[in-house]
Amino acid sequence: MDFAKMIKKILNTKLLLIYTATALIFPMYQETPAQRNKTRTKKTVAAAVPKPVAPTIGYTISMSKPWTHLLEVEMRFNYGRTKSLVSLPNESGEYIELKMPVWTPGSYLIREYARHVESFSAKDASGTDLTWRKTNKNTWQIDTKGAKEIVARYNVYANELTVRTSELNDEHAFISPAALLLFPKDQLNAPSTVKVVPFGNWKVATGLPKVENQTNTFRAENYDVLYDSPFEVSDFKEISFDVQSKPHRFVVTGEGNYDLPKIARDTAKIIEAAYKIFGDLPYDDYLFILNTRGGGGLEHLNSTALQFNRFNFTTRYKDFLNLVAHEFFHLWNVKRIKPDALGPFDYENENYTRLLWFAEGGTAYYESVLLRRADLITADEFTTARETQMLALQNRPGRFETSLEDASFDAWIKYYRPDDNAINNQISYYDKGELVNFLLDVEIRKASNGAKSLDDVMRHLYTEFAKKNKNYSPEDLQKACELMAGKSLNDFFEKYVRGTVEIDYNAILSGIGLRFSTGETENKSAYLGANLRQDGDKLIVASLPKETPAYEQGLNSGDQIVAVDGNRASQTFLSSYLSEKRPADRIKLTVFRFDALREIEVTLGGRAKQDFQITAIENPSEDNRRLYREFLGAELK
Ligand SMILES: [Zn+2]
Repeated sequence: MDFAKMIKKILNTKLLLIYTATALIFPMYQETPAQRNKTRTKKTVAAAVPKPVAPTIGYTISMSKPWTHLLEVEMRFNYGRTKSLVSLPNESGEYIELKMPVWTPGSYLIREYARHVESFSAKDASGTDLTWRKTNKNTWQIDTKGAKEIVARYNVYANELTVRTSELNDEHAFISPAALLLFPKDQLNAPSTVKVVPFGNWKVATGLPKVENQTNTFRAENYDVLYDSPFEVSDFKEISFDVQSKPHRFVVTGEGNYDLPKIARDTAKIIEAAYKIFGDLPYDDYLFILNTRGGGGLEHLNSTALQFNRFNFTTRYKDFLNLVAHEFFHLWNVKRIKPDALGPFDYENENYTRLLWFAEGGTAYYESVLLRRADLITADEFTTARETQMLALQNRPGRFETSLEDASFDAWIKYYRPDDNAINNQISYYDKGELVNFLLDVEIRKASNGAKSLDDVMRHLYTEFAKKNKNYSPEDLQKACELMAGKSLNDFFEKYVRGTVEIDYNAILSGIGLRFSTGETENKSAYLGANLRQDGDKLIVASLPKETPAYEQGLNSGDQIVAVDGNRASQTFLSSYLSEKRPADRIKLTVFRFDALREIEVTLGGRAKQDFQITAIENPSEDNRRLYREFLGAELK
């Protein structure tokens, strides 16, 4: 049954009260995330009936000595009215269990946040100590001794500035809630409040709504929302602006060569471009948290955490705008348009999905789409970005080993932990994903003669899944694409999404009047094929793509190349030396392998110069020209 219909039916019967009561008596033990999703929807609908009983959970986060990097947490957990939901019998009576997430959504790696917890204590409301024990890596079990309220206190060492960890120092606190706040077992639907006690005169910014008449106190309707709302606490600079009558705010911690009014103006253009795709901005307000150290971004429901190097805001400004566009677009693609396994979340285990190539790769593709539509990049810059991706993919032997779906599924063990063999057995669901989403867009435009595009797929997923609080599956995605293309795309998905077939770029690009050329010539130059890294004055073999002379003739990653034919080796020397050689010439490499010196003779290979280019086909038709114009807002040249 359609879920909305089911809710209506429930509302129209007197069964509602019985249902509500049942939901209160029976806890959410052993619920799957999917079941939890349904429960959560029902709860929202049931808001008009007697108040849902949930434990009162209040956190206070303090930072009295920022230089120690210790965030101090007090968690008050009053479960009096829901005691039956949370206590379990054990030998000594009753206990509750508090748990720390092992990962945070958006960054698909088990990070074991519990390892930074220290000085844990538990008391009842009158201050009497309660005994506790750890029962696994991330669970604290507390004997309640009949207490209705438990006060747990602990510190978390926070000295790592990334978008998915926390950092506290004399400059600021960036708080990733999943890395700081314990949750009571089986209570992920419970609402909570967070009071932040800043150091000195620091200010507090978060996407969570404020609790009225309480200083720096915020509320979260459930743990998915709480863990999705980072905090920045500092003497930050800020700028506010409205787009479509909704307030947006940038808060920036750290010095840098940024121009905040310009950032706000350009960000507003990006937001407008995204708004035009979906027709609404599904939040009350939106917060951009920017730190000018570290790197990267993490998407959230109505906020994002961005980190960008302080002195790159002029030379790499477009990269910064790409980052802004990426994280902002995620508020639809992944935060609301949710792949099967991504929300409600299981915070204690991996959440497997085959859809990251669309959730991440599609979002990466829309960076360029939004920037182009906002006129922040040119059509040529748009295609140059595709050329760069093609060059990178075509130089990865791993493209024959791992499909986009498999790379998505294995993100948990591979993407965040690349090793020296990654080039041979992996692809990035971001990079190839971006490329394949681009090709999918072209394919849909071509098949529908310009009537539809990937925008329509996004809109379809938004209205048919996100707004109906349903997650989508790989099959749903393919169907949505086929609906827009008006034909089967099974061949495309089989080859490029589920398979590892070499991409036939020209077969797809020709539809919009473009062709892809490798620029390869008959003249081959000598090459070794090892990827090298200059580490101070040491020249190190970083990785070895399969089937290259270096790979086949015995170089190892980690080898330090000391000399080439008796000459001191450096990256610049080696490339100029090789440019004088011919294919099949032999060279002698002197290398340190571990701590022993050895000599390796290598017969050089021959390789044509790669110069990947996207250019116009000869004699494009009027249809080609029109499709190109509609796509990139420029004339085909
Ligand atoms: Zn992303």
